[in-house]
Order: sequence, then structure tokens, then C-alpha cells
Amino acid sequence: MPNVPKITTTAATPPAGSPSRLEDDPLGRMSEEVGLATMMDELPPPPTVHTLAQQGDVAGLEALLAEDPHTDFSERDEQDVTPLHWASINAHVAACRFLLEHGADVDAVGGELKATPLQWSARNGHLYVMHLLMSHGADPNIRDGQGFNTLHLVTHSSAVMPLLYMLQQPVAVDEADSDGHTALMWAAYQGDGLSVELLLGHGASLTARDHAGLSPLHWAVVKGSAVCIKHLLLAGADFNAREEHEKTPRDMAEELKAIAPLNRALQEANFNEYGQRVQARFSERVTKALIFAFPVLVLFVSFAAFGALEWYFSWPLFVALFAGMQITTVKVLLADKPMSDRVLTSPYFSAIITASFVVVGYAWLTRIVFGAPGVLVSQALFLIAFSACVFTFIKAIRTDPGYVPRADPEEMKAQIEELTDQGRLNGTNWCIFCMVRKPLRSKHCRQCNRCVGRFDHHCPWIWNCVGCNNHRYFLLFVLTLVVGVICFVRLAYAYIDENAPPATPGEGLTLCNISETVCRGAAHDGFLLATVAWASLQLSWTFILGCSQLWQVARQMTTYEISNLGRYGYMGGRGGTSLRDQSGAVRGSTVFVPMPDTESDFSHLPPPPGGAPSHNHHHHRCGPPGRICSVIGAAITGPVFRLVGLDQFTQGRAVSGMARAGRDQNPFDLGVTKNCSDFWCGAKGIDYLHLYQVPPEGWAAYRRKQAAGDRGYVPVAREEV
Ligand SMILES: [Zn+2]
Ligand SMILES: [Zn+2]
Repeated sequence: MPNVPKITTTAATPPAGSPSRLEDDPLGRMSEEVGLATMMDELPPPPTVHTLAQQGDVAGLEALLAEDPHTDFSERDEQDVTPLHWASINAHVAACRFLLEHGADVDAVGGELKATPLQWSARNGHLYVMHLLMSHGADPNIRDGQGFNTLHLVTHSSAVMPLLYMLQQPVAVDEADSDGHTALMWAAYQGDGLSVELLLGHGASLTARDHAGLSPLHWAVVKGSAVCIKHLLLAGADFNAREEHEKTPRDMAEELKAIAPLNRALQEANFNEYGQRVQARFSERVTKALIFAFPVLVLFVSFAAFGALEWYFSWPLFVALFAGMQITTVKVLLADKPMSDRVLTSPYFSAIITASFVVVGYAWLTRIVFGAPGVLVSQALFLIAFSACVFTFIKAIRTDPGYVPRADPEEMKAQIEELTDQGRLNGTNWCIFCMVRKPLRSKHCRQCNRCVGRFDHHCPWIWNCVGCNNHRYFLLFVLTLVVGVICFVRLAYAYIDENAPPATPGEGLTLCNISETVCRGAAHDGFLLATVAWASLQLSWTFILGCSQLWQVARQMTTYEISNLGRYGYMGGRGGTSLRDQSGAVRGSTVFVPMPDTESDFSHLPPPPGGAPSHNHHHHRCGPPGRICSVIGAAITGPVFRLVGLDQFTQGRAVSGMARAGRDQNPFDLGVTKNCSDFWCGAKGIDYLHLYQVPPEGWAAYRRKQAAGDRGYVPVAREEV
């Protein structure tokens, strides 16, 4: 059994009467309970400066000052704690500001643990208190009685945004506590996947060892956190690192009977049992070439078989070839990619589309182009649609969908500072994976691992995200595909009519029962008929996709926004709030006005300390009945819907989202005509990669102003609104 880090005392002893729950928490992080307890305590009259600070009673503090202008705001109570400590631990930003402005010592060391107010707020992840204290010169490198600096303490809080903030401050990321534990070890030991990722992104050392020789990976194994183990392995942690008793992480996992999470992490990271990355079988170029070649081969062989063999041979062959292609691609060609995104991030689906182009083009060139002379208009229309479809398909694949550019470190720091000033440093405005400020309507794509401006969805068929830069190509691709398939079917019909001799229907149920033309086509040219059938099959999903996309364009909404309306409210916010309300936080004033519930902005991000920290933020928030329904639903419809691309309409609560789309307030909606012209002709001057807020005068007025001036944005006067 490894030495569990020794933190045995608490931040502060709760005021007399509060129950001590030290033994509940092996890490002894008690300050939250302390905070709650102090709030709940019945306060004895008359109020002292300490009790007023605990309650955040600024008016009371002012009254106290008015009564006695010589009030000492750095006065210690019987626990050797200053009022600023109490205001900090209870997240009373306004009270903290008042105290600091009236002479409170920002770095006062107090309480049983000899900690500063900054450390008290950091333990609880009170971001805006931390920011206030830092801006008043608090020193984050002071160590408390247990040897922790502010970075360790904010890591203990499991709150990811405060951690992000602290990492921008002058603290060393690999600074060890008195037992040699770095912040990364703590995050790993707590099972905080997001914190681990964030620390790794800020250069935290994977090779650091504590005084017992344990590495961060050892600590993740001790915790049994698959997600942390996975992040550490992917970042290059040494799987064979040995601690002072020569134990590797695997030895430790076996000893602690925690081998299951380790194995799961290895599997998810696509490492073998010895902690080595599974290697690709072929070079990247060869792999890609094979992925594109297989579907062409499979379609040609199986369609030719439909022409040459009886149905009871050709159908099983078709199924076998497809299954073989699927298995070879996923299990062999993509074996080096992590399992979860193996297919979605590969060109496999776009290879199937490409193969379909090849086979349709071939059928047209070898048969229809000269074989159906009577339908010239359809021929021309097909040629145009087919060329446009291929062109837009390639463009949709190759165009950068609108990845939000990364700022340089200085600028990034300034952005974080600015957002914190405004009280808006949260998951809606900042992406901790890309480390970018999120523009409005953008989203982080898990497959691309980048934030995409005006994100629509990640589309495996075009092997790319659909975002502000390639959305038009994508929609044109879908629409020309629909037109092209309809023309192709029409041409094939004319071709068969012209060339196929009358056929004698066979016995029983055959294709001849469907239509005479199909009957003749099957007898005359099975390859063509199979190609037509394959193309028509694509009509089903492309038609629905095309219609819904056109409807969304007319409503100025993206697929992502629609599918999340039912879950979070408008554009990734909390349920029941429109974007207008969410961006309203900065309306009228850029100075952050502290609110009592400021910290609750982060409630959706980190789990509470002490609870089972699950940092999987992709989980849908719904009650048990909802979860059961979605599990059953996914089991039945998932694979089919995923295959044809309809899953985006069923995921989350897309259906209720669509219903609500008509009612919810959409600040970007400028009416059907303008919405459509914006989409197809481009919204002049609107940069979806740097669009951070709806201007106070509203979107329409802002747009008018921009169109008139074209000199960049100048706010209009209040009276004009
Ligand atoms: Zn991102
Ligand atoms: Zn993507």
C-alpha cells in the first residue's frame, strides 16, 4: 500500500459548536464544510467585524466603520483569523473588496494552518475572490502550515476554471509540496481528468517523483482513475517507472486490486498491456490509399455479381464483402487509432461516398451517356449536378471548417484576465482543451480536437467538421447529391426503356413484381440496376438532411444549437436561458459587479470535492428515466441512424429542441430572407472566429451599422436603439 498523502489537518477550525467532520475526508480538506458551517451558525448579537465578513454584509461593515472610524479590519478573532479570511472562504467578493480597500492585510497568515485568505479561497475554488486578492497583490507562492502553495490548494478544489486562472499566475507548475507531490500528482490522485489535461497542457512534468518515488501515473493508478491514467499515458508517461520499493504502476494496481481501470485506460488509449502504443500496420499514405481503394473494389465486385450471379449468391457475397471491408478497415487499417473515434476521425465514410461517385460515373459513362439520347435535359442536369457534387464534396473535405485560431501566450493570458474581470471565465467562454476564447456559436469538436466557429456538426461523410467556412460547401454537396441521384434514376429508367429487351418474369416473388422496367433492367444489366438501387438508397438520408439544413439556415440556427435547445437552452447555456440573457452579463458595464451566485457559474464544470469526481462533461444531464430511454433508444436505433447520419437529429433531446426552436429567442435571427442571404452570400464583416458577444444595441442594429460604415464596429448611441 503506497503512502496516501499526509494531509491530516484542516484549513481552519470551524467556530465553536460546528461539528467536526475531519475523519470523513482522507485528505482532510475541510474548508468547504467550514464555510458552510460558518454560514449556518446562529450569530450572537452584536455582530463583530468577523461575523459580518462571514456573512458578506457590506452594509454592516460600512455601519461599523461609520460608528468607529478606527475599526481595525485586520483584527484577529480567537482562532487567529482575519475578517478577510472569513469573507474569502465564503466567496463574498464585495466584502473582500471593502476589507481590502480599508486596510485589510492581503497576505495575512492565520488560522490553525497558517494560511492566507488566497489559500482559503483557492481550496474552495472561489475564482473571483482569488482574482480580487491577486489583483491586490496576494502572493500565490506562500506555503501554508501543511506545505501547500496556492496551486496545490486550487488543484484540491477540483475546480477547473480556478485552476486555469492560477496557472496563468506566477507560480511554478511543478512546485512540490512538503511530501514532494506536484499539482499533477494531486489531480491524478483525485481522479480529475480535466485538471490533469489542463496541467499537462501547461507543461506539468510526467517524470516528477514525490518523496516515495511515485510518479503522477502511480498516483492515477492508486486512485483507479481510468481517465487520468489514459491522459497521462497519451502524454507519454513512463509505464515502467518504479517507486522506491521498485513497484511499477501495474504492480501497484495489482496490489490494490485496481487492475480494471488500468486495463480500461490502456484500451481506450490504444496501448498494449505493456504500456506500448499499438503501431500502425502501414504508413499513413498507404493506409489512406487502402481505405479509399477498398470501397471502390467492394462496390464494383458486388454490383458486377448482381449482374452475373443468381440472387442467392450475389446477396450473401454483397453482405460478406461489406462486412469484410468494415472489419479490415476498423480492426487492421485503423488499429493504431483509439477505439472510440476510430471510424469518425478516419476517411472511411468519405471513401464510401467517393466509391459511389466512381461507380455511378462509370455506369453513366459506359452505358447511359450514349444509351439514352432522348433525355438531353436530364443528361445535362445530371452532368452539372454530378460535377458540382464532386467539387463541393472535395471542397467540404479540404476547407478548414473554421478552427478558432490559438492566440499567443501573452494574448491568451490577457483574455483570461479580461474574462475573469468580467466574471465570465467559464466553459461557455473558454475552451480548456484548445486554450482559446470561445466565440459565440462555436463548439469544441471532440473528433477534431479543435473549437470550430459557428459549429454545425462533425460529419464523417465529409471527413471534416461542418463550420462557418465549409457549411455552404457541405449543404451544396447534399443538395446536388439529391438532384444528381434523381437525375441518375431518371436517366437509368430511360436507358433501360430504350435498350433492354422485354423480360419474362420468373416464378414467385421477383423484381418483376415491382415494375416492368426494373424487371427488364435486372435481366439486361444487373450492374446498372444495383448502382441505381445503391444511389437511391442515399436519397433517403440526404433528402431529410438537405431539408432540415435548409430549414435551419432559414432560422439562422445550426444543428448543434437545435439539438441542444432542449438540454441547455440556447447555444450551450443553461436550460431556460437564452443567449441574450447569458451575454447580458456584460451588457452596459464591463466592470464586474459581484453577485451572490457568481461561483455557481462553475457548478456545471467541476464536481464537488469529496464527491465522486467524474470529469466526463459529455454526459447528458437527464434523470434516470431519460437515461433508460436513451439507452434503449440508442441500442435499437443507434447503429442504423449513425450509419445514415440521422443520429444528429435524435441525439440529446433534438426533437424537443426542434419544437422549442420556434419559440426560443435567437438574437441572430434576422428573418428568413436575410438569414438565407447571410448564409449563401456571406454576412459582411461578421467574423465567426472572433465574435464574442452580441452588441448591446442588438444584432440587427449592429449589422446595419457595420454595413453602412464598413469601418469596423462603432457602438451606436443608446437613444438610437
Ligand atoms: Zn476547443
Ligand atoms: Zn470535427
